[in-house]
Amino acid sequence: MKKFVYSFNEGSKEMKNLLGGKGANLAEMTKIGLPVPFGFTVSTEACTDYYDQGGALSDDIIKQIDEKLVEIEKVMGKKFGDTKDPLLVSVRSGARISMPGMMDTILNLGLNDEAEKGLAALTGNERFAADSFRRFIQMFASVVMGIEMKRFDEVFEKIKEKAGAKFDVDLTADDLHEVIVEYKKIVKYGEEGGFPAEPRDQLLEAVKAVFRSWNNDRAILYRKLNKIPDEYGTAVNVQSMVFGNMGETSGTGVAFTRSPVNGENKIFGEFLVNAQGEDVVAGIRTPKPIEEMKTSFPEVYDDFMNIAEVLEKHYKDMQDMEFTVERNKLYMLQTRVGKRTSAAAIKIAVDMVNEALIDKETAVMRIDPEQIDQLLHPAFDEKAEKSAKVIASGLPASPGAAGGKVYFTANDAEVAAEKGEAVILVREETSPEDLAGMVAAQGILTARGGMTSHAAVVARGMGKCCVAGCSDIVVSEKEKTMKVGDLTYVEGDSISINGVNGNVYEGLIETVTPELSGDFGTIMSWADGIRTLKVRTNADQPQDARQAIEFGAEGIGLCRTEHMFFEEERIPAIRRMIVAENEDERRAALSALLPFQKEDFKGIYEAMESRPVTIRLLDPPLHEFLPKTDEETRALSEQIGVPYEKLVQATTDLHEFNPMLGHRGCRLAVTYPEIAEMQTQAILEAAIEVKTEKGYDIIPEIMIPLTGIDKEMEYVKNIVVEVAEKVKKEYDSDIKYLVGTMIEVPRAALTADEVAKSAEFFSFGTNDLTQMTFGFSRDDTGQIIKTYIEKGIFKEDIFQSLDQTGVGKLVEMAATLGRHERSNIKLGICGEHGGDPNSIEFCHRIGLNYVSCSPYRVPVARLAAAQAAIINKEK
Ligand code: ADP
Ligand code: MG
Ligand code: MG
Repeated sequence: MKKFVYSFNEGSKEMKNLLGGKGANLAEMTKIGLPVPFGFTVSTEACTDYYDQGGALSDDIIKQIDEKLVEIEKVMGKKFGDTKDPLLVSVRSGARISMPGMMDTILNLGLNDEAEKGLAALTGNERFAADSFRRFIQMFASVVMGIEMKRFDEVFEKIKEKAGAKFDVDLTADDLHEVIVEYKKIVKYGEEGGFPAEPRDQLLEAVKAVFRSWNNDRAILYRKLNKIPDEYGTAVNVQSMVFGNMGETSGTGVAFTRSPVNGENKIFGEFLVNAQGEDVVAGIRTPKPIEEMKTSFPEVYDDFMNIAEVLEKHYKDMQDMEFTVERNKLYMLQTRVGKRTSAAAIKIAVDMVNEALIDKETAVMRIDPEQIDQLLHPAFDEKAEKSAKVIASGLPASPGAAGGKVYFTANDAEVAAEKGEAVILVREETSPEDLAGMVAAQGILTARGGMTSHAAVVARGMGKCCVAGCSDIVVSEKEKTMKVGDLTYVEGDSISINGVNGNVYEGLIETVTPELSGDFGTIMSWADGIRTLKVRTNADQPQDARQAIEFGAEGIGLCRTEHMFFEEERIPAIRRMIVAENEDERRAALSALLPFQKEDFKGIYEAMESRPVTIRLLDPPLHEFLPKTDEETRALSEQIGVPYEKLVQATTDLHEFNPMLGHRGCRLAVTYPEIAEMQTQAILEAAIEVKTEKGYDIIPEIMIPLTGIDKEMEYVKNIVVEVAEKVKKEYDSDIKYLVGTMIEVPRAALTADEVAKSAEFFSFGTNDLTQMTFGFSRDDTGQIIKTYIEKGIFKEDIFQSLDQTGVGKLVEMAATLGRHERSNIKLGICGEHGGDPNSIEFCHRIGLNYVSCSPYRVPVARLAAAQAAIINKEK
């Protein structure tokens, strides 16, 4: 018989895939002798089996659960349903990767009429036992049986009213028994198909409910967002209960071994006296900082600090722990690697190397490249922030700065964001149901909950700005308002929030780019020492280029020349060129453009000094430069002195059904060689002049776009070489230059060896290559791609992460063919994918020389390239 169920003393942290993260870590803590209430884990394979059986527990699984129940009863010396000392358990879901959206933990399972008596006898507290029972019925009914919570609330309120009770705690044991009688009716207690009175039946139902919750909408959404395969399944942990709510010597809490906010090496957490379960996380009462345990529970505090240290040393990473104190005895209920902000991730990684806990490669692997993106994003301008009106202040739960219009439900936030609005999601508190709204929002503001509340944890994970527990504000989801004192803000009003100081401001505040910490530089320098892939940037303007250099760019992989044409002074010249009737007119218009282009290139070369720069010849269809409206056409006619009718005619002539597949790229150079001639002249003259003036070592790389045919490449290259040689002669310069192409038409990839006869470098333009390989227009098919992802046809957006199976095959093939023909051919990628960590790993694997991405992605790419080197070394 296959083993499906494991006691906590049969597992270890290496068994995550089988036991889930929570189960594996409970087993590990048991193994190293920490105080963990005994229990067992029903494995993820049992979850798969459950689905294979069409949604049922097989006899084998049930048999093994029964055996383990006997074992817990023996170890704990308690029995299910006992009237003196009943065994109660929690049922907790736990996938390989911690995953919100799964079924909520059920506490106190095993309670029924007999066990309630037992609990009362054990604690000498009848009221406590009755309250636990009614809570359990409520919880089980809602999470396992799907009965609406509202129905219980109604009963509860009615009885409270009848008893004249103001608060829940004013209810007596007798009142609570009345509640239980009513609750039992709602849940059909003990009846066929109703609430199971037998603890064993309760348990089996709960296990099935956890397995079912693997496929609820929230869980599916979370998996999609985080790219977790649906096949993984979840495990179920069944653990004997300990009670944090047994009075003033008991309590419950959560803590991190270091600050998840800024990484400071100091315990960070919160606890509540006389409380159970999720009270801390749910923000029901405002918890106390963990340090206060030192006074209220001095011995337990020392124990806890000790265990925290043991766990961190054992796991060699920052831990996020959950614990409960029952009558002055400490129990560990969970440990896992703690989520953290990117700033904290960097500080912790660097500190741990300095503490000799981990090596540099491990440190580099610990930083999520996507996450460091947030460090590079703007904060509020200090002055503007000072003069802004602070309307409230809450906890600085997740750093960053955000402004936008307020929306009060996740759904409204999503709808507004889809319309392109910047949104601040304002909630009393968030729950996993709000996930999609949190994703859509720029920032999140909650009225309740602490630093470890749902909103705080999830926002930090997403790298999204969040202010939590802002008790100054009163949020009404129904009225869609937020009140602060006598001010009222309605849906659509603008506010700004600062996740670093917790302030909430009226209106929008100007933002600035932050300075990077020394630790960031340290991690980056370690990454640079490890990676072999070079990182360039896509930049058209000197100021972008300078920004990219600050972020560590080693060159420009793609400088587009068309953006330069759109500037006000230049566009008339390019338009004159387009409507020219013959070559002479065209040449005249182009020569007016030459000085502009040359100045632009000089600016780029000056910014880049001796770093390599690839400049691409004109690429877009010409009609993109023509006026769009009748009004503009008339104005242009005046401005350049070309009759209106002629302009209209030119626009009509240039109209294309499929401009993306039309008169663009190198086809422009083939039909109008004088364009390529002018651009080549501008590039060479700029390079020679800057080289002479500044002494930089410049080797221009001239890139011909959209080639698909070797003859085409050869034709345009000849034009370029002819002009380049002429300029060299005029300047009496021996400057070297390279002529290469962008590989973006599938045919070019398929015949790359032939193309490489004249191309001295390839740069993979994977945006177009993806578009043409799939036949998916990148400008029109956004909605289709979204649907494809929803239906599971695509795992992710093919324009964000390279399709390694199809498009990647072309890239790899072209790289191999290219190198075969020309062994020293330079290979790079300049599509959107050049900044995507998975795609970067692919580029490393197939041996490209560099990736090129937008300036802000450069640090992401440097880190991802280092990780690619580490991963592939291990392989
Ligand atoms: P989550 O994954 O949402 O953190 P957990 O399974 O960790 O859910 O359960 C949440 C909380 O429930 C725990 O932090 C703990 O306080 C409480 N809990 C779970 N199991 C037990 C138990 N055996 N005894 C006492 N409290 C428990
Ligand atoms: Mg939970
Ligand atoms: Mg937990």
